[in-house]
Amino acid sequence: MKILNYGSMNIDRVYAVQHTVRPGETILSRGMNIYCGGKGLNQSIAIAKAGGEVYHAGVLGEDGGILMDALTRYGVDSRHIKHVPGASSHTVIQVDEEGQNCIIVCAGENVRVTDQDIDHVLAHFSAGDMIVMQNELDNGPTIMRKAAQRGMVVAFNPSPINEALATYPLACVSWFILNELEGEAITGESEPPAILAALAEEYPAASVVLTLGAEGAYCSHQGQTLFQPAFKVKAVDTTAAGDTFTGYLLSGLSRGEPIQAVLERAAKASSITVSRKGAADSIPTPDEL
Ligand code: ADP
Repeated sequence: MKILNYGSMNIDRVYAVQHTVRPGETILSRGMNIYCGGKGLNQSIAIAKAGGEVYHAGVLGEDGGILMDALTRYGVDSRHIKHVPGASSHTVIQVDEEGQNCIIVCAGENVRVTDQDIDHVLAHFSAGDMIVMQNELDNGPTIMRKAAQRGMVVAFNPSPINEALATYPLACVSWFILNELEGEAITGESEPPAILAALAEEYPAASVVLTLGAEGAYCSHQGQTLFQPAFKVKAVDTTAAGDTFTGYLLSGLSRGEPIQAVLERAAKASSITVSRKGAADSIPTPDEL
């Protein structure tokens, strides 16, 4: 089964500063690093590292070479990415001496996904293929609706939480992959069992994976509820924990593996991710599990 990830890609410019800049102030940065980011990009890399056949779609500007290189390096198929004049989506991130950060996200009008782009990409996929989405693209709801109309299996990670979430046709979703906060945003419930019950009532045909950080994850699937405990590790950086879980989950599902085994591998992989620094680089390959 092919997996299409219609998702964000960002160039993250991270500036080390003594303190984050105040109104009217000009400060010197102590250095700058450039990283590849965007939930979409991280999840594509996680799916590829986990052995899934993943195609990333979206739009890049002229400076998108670094993102194309990252996707290619990890084995993500980038043929459906559209290239346009101007800048790619990027972020300006200040990190102060205490590790506090301030972030500007510049999504960029030139990298908007149009209805025509969506039709063009989806034409390469058929019923039974999977699409994974996050809440980072402007016309996510249209992508979701059109993919479901083609009969694709829709996996949705409702992140980040914002008012756009209410505009998605969530009845199209086959797999919800979310953490407690995202579960609360969608259902209004805060306790994991209540979140699962509310989702089951509203979307009875959907499967749900509810991740709970260092505790583990619940999964409700085909009438049964499973709990997968997290593996105990010394966490040094939890960036990309959820993206790793998602990548291993979807890769396993696309190969038709039994859910229990898929959840265990996803938990094992994400425990490795949190035990080392970094985002995409810290996601393990199957031989490391
Ligand atoms: P998100 O990053 O989307 O909020 P979570 O924090 O819930 O996602 O983490 C996803 C999964 O990663 C968890 O279900 C768990 O398996 C694993 N994980 C997260 N934090 C830890 C940790 N401190 N130790 C071990 N595993 C962890």
